[in-house]
Amino acid sequence: MSDVDVALVGLGPTGATLANLLGAYGISTLVLERDTQVYPLPRAVHFDGETMRILQSLGLQHAVQAISRPGTQGMHFVSSTGQTLLVRQGSDHPGPQGHYNNWYFHQPELETLLRQRLAQHPNVHVQLGHEVQGLTADAHGVTLETTDLSNGQTQRHRAQYVVGCDGARSAVRHAIGSDMDDRGLKQAWLCLDVLTHNELPLPAYTVQWCDPQRPMTIVNKTGKRRRWEIMVLPGDDPEQLTQPDFYWPLVARWITPAQATVERAAAYTFHSVLAHTWQNQRLIIAGDAAHQTPPFLGQGMCAGLRDAANLAWKLHAVLSGQAHPDLLLTYGSERMPHVREFIDLAVRLGAIIQETDPERARLRDATFADQGAEIFAFPQPRLGPGAYLSHQPHAGTVAPQFTLSQGQLMDDVIGHRFALLVAAEHAQQVQSSRYPRLCQADVAQLTAELGSPMHQWLAAHQACAALLRPDRYVAGLAHQPAELAELEAWLAALLTPK
Ligand SMILES: Cc1cc2nc3c(=O)[nH]c(=O)nc-3n(C[C@H](O)[C@H](O)[C@H](O)COP(=O)(O)OP(=O)(O)OC[C@H]3O[C@@H](n4cnc5c(N)ncnc54)[C@H](O)[C@@H]3O)c2cc1C
Repeated sequence: MSDVDVALVGLGPTGATLANLLGAYGISTLVLERDTQVYPLPRAVHFDGETMRILQSLGLQHAVQAISRPGTQGMHFVSSTGQTLLVRQGSDHPGPQGHYNNWYFHQPELETLLRQRLAQHPNVHVQLGHEVQGLTADAHGVTLETTDLSNGQTQRHRAQYVVGCDGARSAVRHAIGSDMDDRGLKQAWLCLDVLTHNELPLPAYTVQWCDPQRPMTIVNKTGKRRRWEIMVLPGDDPEQLTQPDFYWPLVARWITPAQATVERAAAYTFHSVLAHTWQNQRLIIAGDAAHQTPPFLGQGMCAGLRDAANLAWKLHAVLSGQAHPDLLLTYGSERMPHVREFIDLAVRLGAIIQETDPERARLRDATFADQGAEIFAFPQPRLGPGAYLSHQPHAGTVAPQFTLSQGQLMDDVIGHRFALLVAAEHAQQVQSSRYPRLCQADVAQLTAELGSPMHQWLAAHQACAALLRPDRYVAGLAHQPAELAELEAWLAALLTPK
């Protein structure tokens, strides 16, 4: 029986990201994963700039860039007559997160990188082929019962906290006893992933094909990889969906069997659900275990990585004895409303693309023709109530990532710490005699030189300093030097040896 600080159930993208973050904090971590290999078939195809920033924090920026393609041309919702209804804007330069805001990738390649990175952390122990079959929580920790699927042998482990990163059918969510809030979209779709033999004259951007006869999504992934997501309609024979005779005629206007090899065809049901309860004492859930979104925004995996970034520093603060365990309650209270905004936008987009009534589709197209194509961006919601100075409107929002004067990205300098960004003209005031907590080694001090983007950002918020949390969300701003005392008091109250 092993005894660890944290046990993770599931090594999908959420679990692998959280394990890497806990590894970087030096927390003893056991990861239990049922499968012996990375899930070989891709699901996610897109992630955003904030997600790249989280991958950067794992030291994976360059490795991930090497297997990904920046999506500079956005996503276009197009009617069957070629009319553009909505556009999620692309950009051909890095955005506020310090990275392009859209990336396309092949999920098994990303998951492989995440797993390889775990080898850097001797405090993270991974058991593949081990299924968690029992969870018993008490006041001091959780006992996990696992089965080695290669030989049927059972084991017991003890952890102070268990995080269920165990996907849509989460056993940990079940143990927590959480219901799901259904946000209204549940629909079967077929995913067809192909490798084209040659370059084809297909759009470089993502197309949401809003044809009431057969709604589809067409994605340019990386290299010669392309995806068609095809809505399943009443009357389709479930047995036939993954058969070539079913799908090739549907995509014939773009591609023929002679032009590509099928990597896989698989039917999924897209859900829009959010668990009511993300934590019960020492049991916590993250990723698809806590929320599932239809993929019309390409945000499900991104939300799981945000969960991991939000939770990791809080687990570290609690397990190192600096913070009260109640800090962990802010994980769910902050993340739940945040992810709900993404799910609700995806549901709204789903209602637009999934319209199969010809008359209602004609009215939809006419409305967009009158008002002009709608241009939209990803939401940038504030976190729900939690660990930041909630009376300040900008606290609880994600901070930009600046390039520093030496050319480094800001987060690479900060590492897994808090950060105090101070306008150069006030830097002298941040002294350990006055602000001992802000001046400890777990707070990186960055000076915003006059005229620099960081200085301009502080000025735009009428601030002379900003305190960022390790997940890069703004904990609070000091609008004048005297308000540094408020940041000092907030951090001292949050992180004082308990
Ligand atoms: C068609 C499709 C397209 C998508 N497109 C996008 C996109 O473009 N962008 C995006 O961000 N997201 C997208 N998503 C969503 C994304 O794929 C998921 O949100 C993401 O994979 C969830 O990761 P996870 O780690 O939370 O869960 P999972 O990937 O489901 O991992 C859970 C892991 O837990 C393991 N496990 C479960 N139970 C146990 C147990 N009892 N014991 C041990 N191990 C266990 C499983 O074996 C699995 O490895 C898409 C999804 C689909 C289906």
